[in-house]
Amino acid sequence: MSIVAPRSIHDLGLAEIGRELAGAGISVFHVKALWRALYREPVVPRLAEGGFLPPLQRWVDQVVGEGKPLFRDEPEVVEELRSSDGLTRKFLLRLRDGQTIETVLMRYDGRNTACISTQVGCAMGCVFCATGQMGFRRHLRPGEIISQVLLARRALLEVQPGQKLRNLVLMGMGEPLHNFEAVMAALETITDPAGIGIGPSKISISTVGVVPGILRLAEEPRPYRLAVSLHGSTQQERHALVPVAGKWPLAELMDACRHYCTTGRRIFFEWTLVAGKNDSVEVAGRLVGLLHGIDAHVNLIPLNPTAGFDGTASRAGHAFQQVLRAAGFPCTLRQRRGIDVAAGCGQLQTVVEKGPGQQRGH
Ligand code: SAH
Ligand code: SF4
Repeated sequence: MSIVAPRSIHDLGLAEIGRELAGAGISVFHVKALWRALYREPVVPRLAEGGFLPPLQRWVDQVVGEGKPLFRDEPEVVEELRSSDGLTRKFLLRLRDGQTIETVLMRYDGRNTACISTQVGCAMGCVFCATGQMGFRRHLRPGEIISQVLLARRALLEVQPGQKLRNLVLMGMGEPLHNFEAVMAALETITDPAGIGIGPSKISISTVGVVPGILRLAEEPRPYRLAVSLHGSTQQERHALVPVAGKWPLAELMDACRHYCTTGRRIFFEWTLVAGKNDSVEVAGRLVGLLHGIDAHVNLIPLNPTAGFDGTASRAGHAFQQVLRAAGFPCTLRQRRGIDVAAGCGQLQTVVEKGPGQQRGH
């Protein structure tokens, strides 16, 4: 084998699997059969159960499985919570090294969406975010990112047989553009039409504003949706909530967004509304100024209270929204859906690790 073992078979892209099989003298004909078994089948088959033609089955039996060169990423569900309306299922998953991450399946407005994590913890330290409060633990591998989508797809089929998972948001734990290579490798597998087949335009990559990553995404031919978490209309206002604004200042971030716009793609801006910090109509007016000339859609998110931040959710969302709409920007005020399942990023993990007493607002 050319790979450094042990490694997850889900870390390998289609081309790499092709090279592995070619190296083992197996015809290219079998590559698609293996790829389909890994990604096309809604319920992941046990590869060792003899469903393949002999040359491929021999290779699988020798190479794939626990204790063999290629293992499968199959995270264990440690905890599952369902929202009271039954439309959100949130999973706390344990990885092979014992670290835990969150994956959420949401079924609203006829759309099925998985929200997945890209890191364990996060290095960006946004003050209101439970994941940021946890600090950075490690990056996820492509296989760990992909296996969350497989799990969400299975979870959807359990509650709604025959339904397709068509939407994906990288808004779980972690900063996707801080783990750029692994995220892009995972998305290549996730978007492959012969595999999981989620369209790039149905995948939102949400970033705190990692400028070099935004510039790289502008070069990306696949039309992923970009969401930028802004939260402040001046450098000072933003820096108070988002410490990495010190590294990538607001002016530089907006320049990167303007550059991204030359691709002709819209940018979604995320704005967590914190009472008295960034929720006034004056702030909204400044935001309108910042967005001038950008094809922007603004998503307002009421703050979900977390243990490590004493801010409170804003009640001024509608007035803020009106200012943006009057200026011609589409603007949605997100419902606090699923708050009863600790829906905020990183919150379930925090509750399980520290006990519910550490969690405010629930
Ligand atoms: N790191 C990326 C993606 C994960 S966070 C990013 O920051 O964009 C996804 C979204 O959830 C971000 O817009 C973030 O600001 C928001 N968020 C995190 N914690 C929150 C909280 N406690 N209340 C409301 N929104 C929160
Ligand atoms: Fe990281 Fe996003 Fe949380 Fe900020 S909001 S700490 S970037 S996960």
